[in-house]
Amino acid sequence: MRDAADKLSPRPLAQRLTLFAALGAGLGLVTCAAVPAKENAPIAMQSVLATGADLPASTIPPARAPADDIPLAIPVSADSANAQSGPVTPAVAGEPSEIEDTAVADADERLHEVFWTAHEKISLDALAIAWGIKAAQLRELNPEVDREAPIAEGTKLLVYRHDPEHLPQSIGSPNRGKLRNGMPLPEGPGWRLRTHRPRTYGTTNTIHALVEAFEDFTELYPTGPKIRVGELARRSGGRVPPHRSHRSGRDIDIGYIFRGIDDGEHRWKYMNVRNFDAEKNWALVQELLETGQVQTIYIAKKLQKLLHKEAKKHLPPEQLAALFEYPKTSESPHAKIQHWRGHSNHMHVRFLCEEGNRRCSARSK
Ligand SMILES: [Zn+2]
Repeated sequence: MRDAADKLSPRPLAQRLTLFAALGAGLGLVTCAAVPAKENAPIAMQSVLATGADLPASTIPPARAPADDIPLAIPVSADSANAQSGPVTPAVAGEPSEIEDTAVADADERLHEVFWTAHEKISLDALAIAWGIKAAQLRELNPEVDREAPIAEGTKLLVYRHDPEHLPQSIGSPNRGKLRNGMPLPEGPGWRLRTHRPRTYGTTNTIHALVEAFEDFTELYPTGPKIRVGELARRSGGRVPPHRSHRSGRDIDIGYIFRGIDDGEHRWKYMNVRNFDAEKNWALVQELLETGQVQTIYIAKKLQKLLHKEAKKHLPPEQLAALFEYPKTSESPHAKIQHWRGHSNHMHVRFLCEEGNRRCSARSK
């Protein structure tokens, strides 16, 4: 899809912003809780949530919108419980990766190690819960840290180290699969992770593509607003209620860029013609597509309309048709950008399976 993004000139790596810069204000917020879990779900989905029934199979690829995505509204306690009781797989233990011979995303040395920053004075155990990593694992990665003493606010801890023997691996489908050795999305100056982040893990190609896209967006708009990062997957994947997908490390929710000042929050905002910043959202979508790793981007049709109007300024009709489901053409079912109910306040981006990973399924379920 690089041809869809030609208006953006390539940027030298050296010009890119450094990762792990100090996060801006506003990181004290715990979770994004835009609406109660089921409130924003389509009617059909509400019954699915209630019964646990399966949804009809989707086409592949790109998948038509499965009616399963729900904005974030997970109470901290629920997530903490997940983090503690879930089958968290240590990244440096377990079976050897089954994709060792494949070319995972380019070895971007900067991402061989990922650090996260303690958001307050906090114990290592509490931090491990907030970050969805086992305390023993966090200690192993940070042997210099005194286990008994609280971690000072602003301390950077290593949460991931690249290990060719235990690469991240997406297994199965977004709706049914899991993730092995999940890689955490790094902090960055142009995007905002939540302080509570047990669901911020993905495959290597997903994380690398996100960092690339986010950095390029930040370079275009260095004064912000920051990109609001929602949930990806748990470190070892699996269920992440109330989402139906987000299980295999290839899905992420991203808040739309809206007009006006950045309020420093994580909260999603419902978009309309007045507050939807079409130019910046189009730039963000372009940067994502430019990575070549996107399978589908789910955006509510009414917002696709606004985005399409913006994209029309830059792209010829045939490229527009290949990109947008809206307006309806014969190519709509295969367009990269698809409608999915419930995506009026955030977009959902699904990344491709890692190259050569035969255990990963492009189907939704
Ligand atoms: Zn989602």
